[in-house]
Amino acid sequence: MSEKISLAAGVAERRSPVSQKAQKFTESVIREMTRLAIEHNAVNLAQGFPDFAAPEEVKEAAVAAIRADINQYEITWGAREFRRAVAERFHRDTGLEIDPEREMTVCCGATETMIASLLAIIDPGDEVVVFEPFYENYGPDAIICGATTRHVRLHPPDWTIDAQELAAAFTDRTRAIILNTPNNPTGKVFTLAELELIAEQCRRAGAYAITDEIYQFLVYDGFRHVSLVTLPGMRERTITINAMSKTYSVTGWRVGYAIAPPEVTNAVRKMHDFLTVGAAAPLQQAGATALRLPESYYQQLCVNYQTRRDRMLVGLEQAGFRCFRPHGAYYIMTDISAFGFHNDVEFARYLVREIGVGVVPGSSFYRDPASGAQQVRFAYCKKDATLDEALRRLEKLKR
Ligand code: GLN
Repeated sequence: MSEKISLAAGVAERRSPVSQKAQKFTESVIREMTRLAIEHNAVNLAQGFPDFAAPEEVKEAAVAAIRADINQYEITWGAREFRRAVAERFHRDTGLEIDPEREMTVCCGATETMIASLLAIIDPGDEVVVFEPFYENYGPDAIICGATTRHVRLHPPDWTIDAQELAAAFTDRTRAIILNTPNNPTGKVFTLAELELIAEQCRRAGAYAITDEIYQFLVYDGFRHVSLVTLPGMRERTITINAMSKTYSVTGWRVGYAIAPPEVTNAVRKMHDFLTVGAAAPLQQAGATALRLPESYYQQLCVNYQTRRDRMLVGLEQAGFRCFRPHGAYYIMTDISAFGFHNDVEFARYLVREIGVGVVPGSSFYRDPASGAQQVRFAYCKKDATLDEALRRLEKLKR
């Protein structure tokens, strides 16, 4: 008896205090870099959030909503008016009519939307295809949902995909592919031809596509954003994710949404309901105003970002970085081999401490850290003054 008890105690001692899933991933490197940047008083070009103001009318709409006492739970799957505005915008952008009552779920940012979407379709042992380098959340997202990831390389300098490598990643266990276009961290905008390859694989494997299109309006150099859902046979197998964060410069509001066929939407809504109940009610109200801003707003947003990108490309090259020219989103992936550092993490630490600029080490976008060991990512969603100060500091690298 006593032996039994001590054995049991021994077993209990050996057990980790946290779950197996929790042991499988670390804190977000992106958010850690923001913390380090604050600690060292560095210019933060690590985490991708704007340091400039959100549109006045959008802020006013949020204030008005709070004053009008829109302060209680909204409908779990999203405020009706906001969903209507999303459906209108979606129609303008894709030509598709969707039913906001049956094909949409509003969640707390694209982050929760992605997890709720994966939870809605993934069973343990399912495989999910992810392009690499990838936005770091997709790794933990897959682990949380019990999926196994298979990676397909985006090949620099243009981050092209190889049709054979893509086909080889699809197996009889493939449940979904995650696509992020315009892409974080590379700035790649997937071409129609590439999307056709992806759609073909999805149809062949009977797999879903989960598309993260949060940078949809940030596309440069004559490139065009195409939603995968518009390709033949994809409407019934695509979950399109987007959010207010990047388009309206309100990353802290946490309002995102998934557009998916009714059956999938039902499952996403259930996951979302028990994860968070609902996104902030007054901010969804303001979201309806935001999504109805005139086309000139989106054009100007894009022009402003392209100007920032160009300024950064010149400055970074002058400071000795080799830039992989992005055609979309608001990041620049760079090659750091000219600086002679052992790896990206060492270099990023040096930058934040000694030079005073926060960046994200490239390895956080790859499964094998060695793949990103000579890359770092800059986020340029910042005021001119912030970018200029960062570039001024980076000049010290040459000395
Ligand atoms: N998407 C942004 C980035 O890549 C912000 C990530 C986050 O912290 N949620 O930097």
